[in-house]
Amino acid sequence: MSRWAKIILVLVLLLSGLVLLARAFQAELGMVLIENLVGARVGLDATRDLPDGLHVVLCGTGSPLPDPERAGPCTLVIAGKHMFLVDAGEWAARNLALMGIPHARLDGVLLTHMHSDHIDGMGPVLLMRWTTGAATSPLPVHGPAGVDKVVAGFNTAYALDAGYRTAHHGPAIAPPSGAGAVAMAFALPEAGQGNTTAVLEQDGVRITAIRVDHGVVEPAVGYRIDYGGRAVVISGDTARSTSLAEGARGCDLLVHEALQPRIVKRLTEGFVAKGNTGVAQITRDILSYHSSPEDAADVATAAGARHLVLSHIIPPMMRPILYPAFLGEAPKRFSGPITVGEDGMIFSLPTGGTEIRQRRLM
Ligand SMILES: [Zn+2]
Ligand SMILES: [Zn+2]
Repeated sequence: MSRWAKIILVLVLLLSGLVLLARAFQAELGMVLIENLVGARVGLDATRDLPDGLHVVLCGTGSPLPDPERAGPCTLVIAGKHMFLVDAGEWAARNLALMGIPHARLDGVLLTHMHSDHIDGMGPVLLMRWTTGAATSPLPVHGPAGVDKVVAGFNTAYALDAGYRTAHHGPAIAPPSGAGAVAMAFALPEAGQGNTTAVLEQDGVRITAIRVDHGVVEPAVGYRIDYGGRAVVISGDTARSTSLAEGARGCDLLVHEALQPRIVKRLTEGFVAKGNTGVAQITRDILSYHSSPEDAADVATAAGARHLVLSHIIPPMMRPILYPAFLGEAPKRFSGPITVGEDGMIFSLPTGGTEIRQRRLM
C-alpha cells in the first residue's frame, strides 16, 4: 500500500469514528447547540442599539397568495422611542419574534383597510404584546371607519383565551386590563375636501393617513410617518393614486404595494385552462384595485421619493432571479433605487441627514 493510500485510509477511519461518536452523543451535542441558541435568541432586542431616527422593518411582504418566503402584509415603523405596526397580516407576530423585535414595545397598530389579509395576524400580535410586557391597557389600533368592528371581533374571539392566561399565570403577568385592543377610529375629509387626516402627534412623531383608491374597499388609506426631518410612506393597498403621490411628497422612503399584471394574466390563463373560471375571474378582478411596479415607480417619481421599496408582492416571487421580470419597466420610470421587499429587511433613516441604510434582521 502506498503512503498516500495509507494516509487516506487513516483519514477515512478517523472520520468514520467521529461520525459514530457524534451519533452516539447526538442528544448531548444537541443540548449544547440548544443552550447556545437560547443564549443568543432569548431576550434578543434588535431595536436596542438603533440610532435615533426612522426605521422601517419589513415583517411581511406577501399577499393572500401563498409564498413560503413572505408573510402577510406587515410593516413595522420605529420612530424615535415609538413603534407602530402598519397592518398585521398572517405571521406578523412570528416574524417580529424571529427578527428580535420585542412585541411589548408596540405603541399601536395602524390598519390601512379591513381586507382580511391585513388583519388576520392581529390576534397573535395582541396576545404577544400583552403577555410579554404585562401590559395594563389594551393596544390602540388606529384605522378608518370599520376599525371598531374589527377590534370588537378580535376582542370577542380572544376573550376566553385571555381569561385562561390570567387564571394560569396570574394578574401580575397577564393583567386583565391589558388584553386585546382598543379601536381608535379616525375620519377622512369629505370627498373634495382634502385627502389627509392627522392620526397622531407625539414626541416629534407625526402620523398622517392618506386616502387611497382601493376600489370597493372604502375607505382605504396609506400612512405617512414623519420624525426628525425624515419621512416614510406606506401605501397600503391601492390602485395608482395621485392622492398618495401628493401625500408622499418629499418622503425619503416609499413602501408601495405591487402586482405585476403581465404575470397575473398568466395565472388567469392557467386557471382558465384548468376550468376554474371562478378563481380565474378573481385574478382578473384584482387587477383593477392594485398597482403595477411601473405604477409604483411613477408614484415614487411624482412624490420625489428617494428610495422605493415594493411590498405586498403579487404573485409570489420566490427567487431574486425572477425580480427583473416582476419589475418590468419600473427601473426606467424611477431614477432612485428600487428594492423588491423581502421579509427581514430593515431600512434605517437616521435623523439629520439623507442616508438610507439597508440590512437584514433575518
Ligand atoms: Zn392586501
Ligand atoms: Zn386590500
